[in-house]
Amino acid sequence: MNIVIMGPPGVGKGTQSHGLEEKWGMVHISTGDILRMAIRGESELGTKVQEVMNLGDLVPDELMMEVIKERLSQGDLENGWLLDGFPRTAVQASAFILMLEEIGQTIDAVLVVRAPAEEIVRRLNGRITCRACNEVMNLVGFASTAPKFCPFCGASEDSKRGKPALYQRADDKEETIRHRLEVFRKKTLPAAWLLEEKYPLYEIDGLGTPEEVARRISEVLQ
Ligand code: AMP
Repeated sequence: MNIVIMGPPGVGKGTQSHGLEEKWGMVHISTGDILRMAIRGESELGTKVQEVMNLGDLVPDELMMEVIKERLSQGDLENGWLLDGFPRTAVQASAFILMLEEIGQTIDAVLVVRAPAEEIVRRLNGRITCRACNEVMNLVGFASTAPKFCPFCGASEDSKRGKPALYQRADDKEETIRHRLEVFRKKTLPAAWLLEEKYPLYEIDGLGTPEEVARRISEVLQ
């Protein structure tokens, strides 16, 4: 199964993607994770995108098309893919539709997970990320201070760079979050409506516990 999961930052796309990957066996491809890894590895791509990402703006479309083409050409996707964070603009969506036609693939479901802006700001403000495994967690779940070890992979430090494993992403600060929400509304929603012209699209209520949201997604996929 090939799936695209869309939604504002912090709505739970990453968490839901992990569950879907486990349940259905497709490969989770997060373009945000790919770019953050490129920054950490200090590659040419990383240097190009770092500033734009920290400001909460979008990486240029041509660059993203190269990233996605490269990733989809790798040979590990026979059980399908789950795209999280791509396409993010109408230009990317149109180019992606053409690319899929060229390679003879389709999208079985586009999932658009929604939640009110104030809920997103509340969730992202306390979000911390692990440099080692990319998992995210919320400070709300950890009294007042972040734990020293990642509860998912156990890392305390990013061994490559000698930095603490757990950190708050530069783009998870309140002002940047509000900007990213605006970018989602203006640039990414039009990409969703373009995909809807070709593929089945389902809007999912992102409020409630991760389990509740997973149940809603399961219902539409089944
Ligand atoms: P995410 O982890 O999906 O929230 O992505 C973090 C940041 O990576 C975004 O705010 C953008 O700066 C960049 N990014 C990820 N995917 C894309 C994309 N498809 N197009 C443009 N920028 C992207």
